Amino acid sequence: MDLSFTPEEQKFREEVRAWVKENLPQEISHKVHNALELTRDDLQGWAKILGKKGWLGYGWPKEFGGPGWTAVQRHLFEEETALAGAPRIVPFGPVMVAPVIMAFGNAEQQKRFLPGIASGEVWWSQGYSEPGSGSDLASVKTKAERKGDKYIVNGQKTWTTLGQYGDWMFNLVRTSNEGKPQTGISFLLLDMKSPGVTVRPIKLLDGGHEVNEVFFDNVEVPAENLIGEENKGWTYAKHLLSHERTNIADVNRAKRELERLKRIAKSEGVYEDQRFRDEIAKLEVDIVALEMMVLRVLSAATSGKNSLDVAGLLRSAAARSSSATAN
Ligand SMILES: Cc1cc2nc3c(=O)[nH]c(=O)nc-3n(C[C@H](O)[C@H](O)[C@H](O)COP(=O)(O)OP(=O)(O)OC[C@H]3O[C@@H](n4cnc5c(N)ncnc54)[C@H](O)[C@@H]3O)c2cc1C
Repeated sequence: MDLSFTPEEQKFREEVRAWVKENLPQEISHKVHNALELTRDDLQGWAKILGKKGWLGYGWPKEFGGPGWTAVQRHLFEEETALAGAPRIVPFGPVMVAPVIMAFGNAEQQKRFLPGIASGEVWWSQGYSEPGSGSDLASVKTKAERKGDKYIVNGQKTWTTLGQYGDWMFNLVRTSNEGKPQTGISFLLLDMKSPGVTVRPIKLLDGGHEVNEVFFDNVEVPAENLIGEENKGWTYAKHLLSHERTNIADVNRAKRELERLKRIAKSEGVYEDQRFRDEIAKLEVDIVALEMMVLRVLSAATSGKNSLDVAGLLRSAAARSSSATAN
């Protein structure tokens, strides 16, 4: 297994680094480096800058307007943007729903939805979880009833990240109660400006507003917004989650946050404490181990082996190091 980068890959890394240095607004990277709150304008502003360059959908194939990068190039892009202090790309549009639309949407849906995602103009939210349907996602109850050329949607989603900014939402809805719970779920795209949609903030312990409850009261959704076939949504949802898992290791953010932790510790004088430095060393070892795991996944992907079997492992390892380095 070869874990080093080729000269072409190094050159690609330098190109990305130079472009990011030139184009990432300093006020945004200052906020990221200092863990200050990012506004909608910061997040969407950066998304639009990437969109103009054709890099917001950085994992997309050329056929749908993406750069068609290899797994290694995608990794290097993620690394350079994270180290430079770019905000994480809000994943719901470009990383989550877009691959589903590419794989299972029809040509009309691809033409209608993908350009707004690629440019960063349209903000998407994820409507999976419900009160009582979190880990047990197949038990979703939000109901979509077909009436002529529309679905009438009633129910509630929860933990909707940044849903207060959402233009559109992709939803798992119940269209049948027959058979196994998984077989009665459909994947529906819903305009959040539709009458009957209410977004309510969930205030977090730190007072922040990142997640929401979203209520649907007789919301009319054109049947043309159904992805693929009715009652096949579980298959599409699993496709989406596989993309979420490979993207989530976030080793570069952990590296950046660890550097910030060291800076703060030095300025506060605690870095001299041997026990504190031991803890830092443990975190560093975890992050290097995570990075090695990511490189192994990339190496497997490059040599054509299926890497998704280790993706779940990456997710749990990443959760450990990012919770340890989060403020
Ligand atoms: C910050 C944040 C943002 C989120 N954003 C979104 C979003 O944008 N859109 C969205 O749809 N969802 C979102 N989620 C929801 C997230 O995906 C859910 O939290 C997740 O599905 C878990 O559901 P739950 O919180 O209801 O936990 P539960 O399902 O109630 O689980 C609670 C605990 O019980 C354990 N548990 C559950 N079932 C079992 C079992 N059978 N055996 C053993 N242990 C079990 C779980 O592992 C967990 O530790 C977000 C969550 C968070 C924290």
